Amino acid sequence: MQDILDQIVATVGASADRGKVADYIPQLACIDANQFAITVALADGRIFSAGDSQQLFSIQSISKAFTLTIALGKLGDAVWSRVGREPSGDPFNSIVQLEHEHGKPRNPFINAGAIAIADAILMGHQPKETLAEILQFVRFIAADDSISIDEKVARSEQSRGDRNASLAHFMASFGRLDNPVDCVLGTYFHHCSIAMNTQQLAKAGLFLVDNGRNPVSGTRVVSTQRARRINSLMLMCGHYDGSGEFAFRVGLPGKSGVGGGILAIAPGKASIAVWSPGLDDVGNSKLGTAALEKLVQHTGWSIFG
Ligand code: GLU
Repeated sequence: MQDILDQIVATVGASADRGKVADYIPQLACIDANQFAITVALADGRIFSAGDSQQLFSIQSISKAFTLTIALGKLGDAVWSRVGREPSGDPFNSIVQLEHEHGKPRNPFINAGAIAIADAILMGHQPKETLAEILQFVRFIAADDSISIDEKVARSEQSRGDRNASLAHFMASFGRLDNPVDCVLGTYFHHCSIAMNTQQLAKAGLFLVDNGRNPVSGTRVVSTQRARRINSLMLMCGHYDGSGEFAFRVGLPGKSGVGGGILAIAPGKASIAVWSPGLDDVGNSKLGTAALEKLVQHTGWSIFG
């Protein structure tokens, strides 16, 4: 495994065409696009890394897999009255479907859906309390208490948050938010601004590798059925309008973020985190996807055999 990862860093990680860093969040616009990291956390507890795997980055939308898990824990199947579970085929921040579908987002991973999930888990609490709960959950699944929120990124995103604010107000106009828009957006921007490295992120994904149970510690995080469903949503919706392409090329459930990270799950085998800040045209890590494609070619881990 170490040889495979070293080879991926030396080939994919050295590509000249690295995509473009997200520049609509000013704080992300200044990230060095030459960084690259990959970590594989195997179900047997061994962890392999290559590249800049200690470097913290903004997990952005990868956090939506964690907030969905929390929301399902709190509300159970009532979550599905708030968000759907179909791929959108639209950009991550699109507003068009929302009007046709009466303010109910297609799935929990597009921005509108994740904003609705943030509203669901707020349950009348202050954003601070809910963020503490989200952070506690992420620290627990990653077994790492040092994980925190990058306030600068959160403030930076808030300063340019017009599109997400539009989505939230639009949903509120359909009576779909229970909490004040400002509180919901504050919660959303901050959970997107959690900073992690690929080692922490790969460890955080382990509960999705073994039917909802961390295979290393033996701790159950969610039920088998719930883990299966989260993985299926990641496969169908985890890369926005690039989800089909990701399933075609990589064949694993995965969740991407505009910080350039991707968390991918090889059920029964491993949790994999990659990071390369440059994005493709639809906002997914360009080299991160290529790295996962290579890894799956070497390991045969595609869920499609
Ligand atoms: N916080 C980002 C936004 O709302 C998340 C997008 C992403 O990572 O895909 O624009």
